[in-house]
Amino acid sequence: MELNDLYRDVILDHNRRPRNFGPLEAADASADGVNPLCGDRLTLRLKLAADKIEEIRFEGQGCAISTASASLMTEAVKGKTRGEALGLFERIHRLLTEEDAEPDGLGKLAALSGVRAYPARVKCASLCWHTLASALKSHDAQPPQVSTE
Ligand code: ZN
Repeated sequence: MELNDLYRDVILDHNRRPRNFGPLEAADASADGVNPLCGDRLTLRLKLAADKIEEIRFEGQGCAISTASASLMTEAVKGKTRGEALGLFERIHRLLTEEDAEPDGLGKLAALSGVRAYPARVKCASLCWHTLASALKSHDAQPPQVSTE
């Protein structure tokens, strides 16, 4: 793996010390993701307040890119609305697959653009994002909370 230095440092840091890693009690949305090409597995759990991702944590085992991507993702979407998180998913998908997609404004997530030079690893980086989308969609089945006061 030869990402450029800045991007590589971000990936290595988030792989060594994954943020938001561990169980989450009383989660109200969750999903499992598997990337059979590499053997990456992860479980994502979220707490939603109205439409906002209040808490998000992940568990699982995978390669450096899948772990770092999940760590970066949880940092990026915490506090965001479901719509904002899904919008970010679209941007990351383009960043990983389109050669001319710009990482402007993506902060540390820009490091994921280094992965597109390695098509075999794109699924490692996108696994957590697909898992996030299915967790958010699974939550759609529940009716919106209505205050009784
Ligand atoms: Zn992988």
